[in-house]
Amino acid sequence: MSQKLIYLDNSATTPVIPEVADEMDRVLRNCFGNPSSMHHLGMDSSKVIKEARQTVAKTLKCRESEIIFTSCGTEADNLAIIGAATRASRAGKHVITSDIEHPAVLESMKALETCGFEVTYLPVNNDAVIDAEELKAAIRPDTVLVSLMYVNNEVGSVMPVAEAGRAIKSANPNTLFHVDAVQAYTKMPLRPQSMGIDLLSASGHKIHASKGVGFLYASDKVKFNTLMLGGGQQSGRRSGTENVPGIAGMALAADKAFSSMEEDVARMYALKSYFIGELLKLDGVYINGRYGRDSAPHIISASFEGIRSQVLLNALDAKGICVSSGSACSANHPGISRTLKSMGVKSALLDSTIRFSMSALTTKEELDYTLEVLNDTLPVLRRFTRK
Ligand code: PLP
Repeated sequence: MSQKLIYLDNSATTPVIPEVADEMDRVLRNCFGNPSSMHHLGMDSSKVIKEARQTVAKTLKCRESEIIFTSCGTEADNLAIIGAATRASRAGKHVITSDIEHPAVLESMKALETCGFEVTYLPVNNDAVIDAEELKAAIRPDTVLVSLMYVNNEVGSVMPVAEAGRAIKSANPNTLFHVDAVQAYTKMPLRPQSMGIDLLSASGHKIHASKGVGFLYASDKVKFNTLMLGGGQQSGRRSGTENVPGIAGMALAADKAFSSMEEDVARMYALKSYFIGELLKLDGVYINGRYGRDSAPHIISASFEGIRSQVLLNALDAKGICVSSGSACSANHPGISRTLKSMGVKSALLDSTIRFSMSALTTKEELDYTLEVLNDTLPVLRRFTRK
């Protein structure tokens, strides 16, 4: 009998859907010209990029000129934070972020600190959410940038982005607002203009496109220093020959996701609610953070009393179920999760936490199988770990 494969690690990366793989294959084979070349093959490639830019811009209701393609979400975060803050540094050297950002943001903040910037790290409550009033109070005349994640990658908490946008602009209209929307794009409502967002990062491999591509939305009004120096592609804002097949695939994936977003998100919320309801029937299981419509539809963080995360992860993997302990994208930052600690998860549960993350492809049958395996496995693992 073939082994089942249940993929519940979609916040780490998503499978490329067949239509996207086909489109990438088509572009890879047929549009190999350099988009900067002046002959017809170059023009074919530059047309692919132009159309992809139009498609992505449509999903955010913004201008085409406001989309800059990058190699990943990390690059988009780096470009937004370091690029915009250093460009604005004559106006001030104070930036604000939260305690629970992805390393792509936290490491950018550390880089700014080494250049003489002062960084305020906002605490989060037990639900891993900042207080917009606290944010407003932290804004100063020399605050040049605020960077917040929309959806936390480990527990799926949702930051009050629209409220934060209003608070920032009323406290200091010159302060730029960057949103790391890597886990939110195609899942949460996103209108940069009406939400006061100046810069926004997203990543292709979280939306069923391939690795190696992402984008930064940068309002036409925002000035930032570029980080990639070279041939001046993308109007000089991000040099480097564009990843044409990756960009085409990401645009198609975004277009498909937006065309069925309402149904997909509703289905994921229903599955999440069902899965959590069943998890809570098991002995010694705790859910971290909120889990209603005020959380992201696809991420569930659960702590399993008395069982180490890695042990449970391996046991599930042996049954064909792929999950993550903490955050897979932080594999280079081993140790106890900063997010779980900041939101006050009991220390005994910190190393007993698993992230289940769904996509629009996740089915109830897959969750039922996972629950069945957990039901059988948890008592066995506890017998070995409890004295
Ligand atoms: N920001 C968040 C919230 C993420 O979850 C991730 C990846 O998991 C990133 C940034 C980095 O994105 P990428 O893997 O495309 O570099």
